[in-house]
Amino acid sequence: MVVANQKGGVGKTTTTVNLAASLALHGGRVLVIDLDPQGNASTALGIDHHAEVPSIYDVLVESKPLSDVVQPVADVEGLFCAPATIDLAGAEIELVSLVARESRLQRAIESYEQPLDYILIDCPPSLGLLTVNALVAGAEVVIPIQCEYYALEGLGQLLKNVDLVRAHLNPKLHVSTILLTMYDGRTRLASQVADEVRTHFGKEVLRTSIPRSVRISEAPSYGQTVLTYDPGSSGALSYLEAAREMALRGLPGQVEVEYDPQEEQHNEHNPHSMSEGIQ
Ligand code: ATP
Ligand code: MG
Repeated sequence: MVVANQKGGVGKTTTTVNLAASLALHGGRVLVIDLDPQGNASTALGIDHHAEVPSIYDVLVESKPLSDVVQPVADVEGLFCAPATIDLAGAEIELVSLVARESRLQRAIESYEQPLDYILIDCPPSLGLLTVNALVAGAEVVIPIQCEYYALEGLGQLLKNVDLVRAHLNPKLHVSTILLTMYDGRTRLASQVADEVRTHFGKEVLRTSIPRSVRISEAPSYGQTVLTYDPGSSGALSYLEAAREMALRGLPGQVEVEYDPQEEQHNEHNPHSMSEGIQ
């Protein structure tokens, strides 16, 4: 699963680590690949990622086997992490001149022999070669959308990239899941955004949305997911429920998400429409 959205701070990392922990707590063997030079997913999972630690950079650029960099996550049985270090910031440029630059992560994953039920890839907030590597390696795209006014702006570009990768490099890729994050049920704006997203994407949108929760935002500072930091909190329960919904769908999302220009025209009559950005 590729967790992607080029908009920053929408909850990609939070979603990656908490869905991964939820799936592992239910007995799955789960690998989180941190593909963001910020290394936030590594931090949130309590994995050391200072510059000398073997990391996903070595896999992508130096062709090191993935098994040499994967580390077990201390608090959660069955959860593993391939960390990102700051080196990865240069990879975007270094990859350009390498052979098979778009498919280096895919090859590394294919050669990884440990049994796994799920791999979740946390993408950086951009659509560069790192995100392209994730899209080529993945089977499905999970898009977290923050329930704020600009939430849908730029999404069209991400969907276009998914289409391009599907057409040229990875025919099985599809957008399987849209997850509404930082939902604040007290504001009308949040429910308006949620309605817009549901109108546009239909059944890919999980019924479960993730509430804005202090516990969720505190957990990374303890190197933990919210599932171990405060298992009874609303944030933990909502991620568990989202993971359950995804697991129960089996192989989801065979229907492709398509941009419908007619619907867009329709929306032009509504000056407050938040879906104007999907183009
Ligand atoms: P980036 O684009 O920088 O990688 P991101 O999309 O990975 O960001 P996160 O780092 O997951 O986003 O979240 C951004 C910030 O919002 C973080 O400080 C995180 O703790 C906080 N946050 C995420 N989800 C929630 C939530 N449901 N409730 C409260 N805070 C949240
Ligand atoms: Mg992130």
